[in-house]
Amino acid sequence: MQIPGRSNIAVADNGDAWVRGYRCSACGTAAEVPTIACRRCHARGTMKEFRAGDSGKLVTWSIVHRSYPGVPVPFVSAVVRLDDGISIKGNLDGVAHDDLSAGMPVRLVMDDAGGAKDKEGNDYVAYHFTAQAA
Ligand SMILES: [Zn+2]
Repeated sequence: MQIPGRSNIAVADNGDAWVRGYRCSACGTAAEVPTIACRRCHARGTMKEFRAGDSGKLVTWSIVHRSYPGVPVPFVSAVVRLDDGISIKGNLDGVAHDDLSAGMPVRLVMDDAGGAKDKEGNDYVAYHFTAQAA
C-alpha cells in the first residue's frame, strides 16, 4: 500500500498520485489548503478540490548544507508556483546550483520518498522537482 508522505498528496487505490489544490468556484482563485472562504473574493463554501498539474516555475530556493544525519547535502529546497496557481515547497533535483534562476520552468515528479516506509512496511509517496525544457 502507498500512503501520502505529505498532507497535500492524494493517492488512488491504483497507486496514481497527485498534488491536491483547491479552487474557488466563484472567482477561480486557487489555494494550497482547503479554506472555509476564498482568500480573494471571500465567498464561503466555494473552494473545491482539484488535481494539480505537474508543470510550474521556480519562485525561490535555498541551498541546504546541513540537515539530519543520513540526509545527503547539499540539496535545493525550492518554492514552486504550479501553473494551476498554487505554490508548494519541495526539493529541486538535477540542476547545477549556478544554473538556478527565478522563473525557470520545472516539473513536479512523484517519487518513493527515498524508499521510506512506515512501521507496517507501507511505502510513502512524495514528490520533488526537476528542470523542464522551456
Ligand atoms: Zn473566490
